Amino acid sequence: MPKKRIVSGMRPTGKIHLGHLHGALLNWKKLQEEYDCFYFIADWHALTSDYARPEIIRETTYEIIIDWISMGLDPEVSTFFIQSHIKEHAELHLIFSMITPLPWLERNPTYKEQLRELTHKDVYTYGFLGYPVLQAADILIYKANGVPVGEDQAPHVELTRETARRFNHLYGETFPVPNVLLTPTSKLLGIDRRKMSKSYNNAIFLTDSDEEISEKVGQMITDPQRARRNDPGDPGICNVFSFHEIYTNNEIVESIKRECRSADIGCVECKKIMASSLKKGLEPIKARRRELESDIDKVKEIVSEGNKRARAIAQRTMTEVREAVKI
Ligand code: SF4
Repeated sequence: MPKKRIVSGMRPTGKIHLGHLHGALLNWKKLQEEYDCFYFIADWHALTSDYARPEIIRETTYEIIIDWISMGLDPEVSTFFIQSHIKEHAELHLIFSMITPLPWLERNPTYKEQLRELTHKDVYTYGFLGYPVLQAADILIYKANGVPVGEDQAPHVELTRETARRFNHLYGETFPVPNVLLTPTSKLLGIDRRKMSKSYNNAIFLTDSDEEISEKVGQMITDPQRARRNDPGDPGICNVFSFHEIYTNNEIVESIKRECRSADIGCVECKKIMASSLKKGLEPIKARRRELESDIDKVKEIVSEGNKRARAIAQRTMTEVREAVKI
């Protein structure tokens, strides 16, 4: 039986950090075993919010693909492609925009939240409002059965499901209604204990040098109740400890847990141990990255192959869609 297909993308608006790695990419890696995965660089989506600084898109597109391969996504198993290289996405977006009721977009909670939060950018645009319509096209053009997303993106996928149903109702059964595959939220926060994000300037990147890692870990906020060295701490609410749980070996994690509670270990020492575990944990990814950086033509070839595979499917779907809408 052929594997079910999933589609997911990443916007090239900056470098990959540990929030991406633990929030999405390691899950993508796991999904490769069970699904036929299509992973894409969402460069048109990047323009919806970053249209005023497009240079970041070219700068980061291949960097992100290098990170994907370095952390274990396998181009032999999954299809990597660039959204804007498959023009059919734009055509399907246009057709979907004809049948999408405006209130579906205006009531989208993510849209409302971003309008509030992105105060430094003017996102009162047609493209930004229509972001979920483009996303529906990205997913449905591959007739995906599932979409792995974080909780914040789930309403967008709901809109994709609505779009598929509406299209099928108007023009006949064309698209499967994809399922939401909810990605567990990463426990790792940024160094200031907010969600890890490049725009908060609190992220640890996969490309950070050992010195940068030491410096950032040194600045991390720990248990906020632990004001003095002699105060007992609570690892359960400490972000440094969440990193230990992933990157440090179990025996040491257990002793840190005990010694933190009895104030036998100070945060400075604890952070040094964590920084060293983190550097060790990231080293294989960095080593693979160095190899790929020295052979960028190979990375471009991978993308070109992926584009070809994606385009063939997108073209087939568009033939059906044009037939259905009598164009
Ligand atoms: S000792 Fe470690 S686990 Fe405990 S509060 Fe400090 S940094 Fe966190």
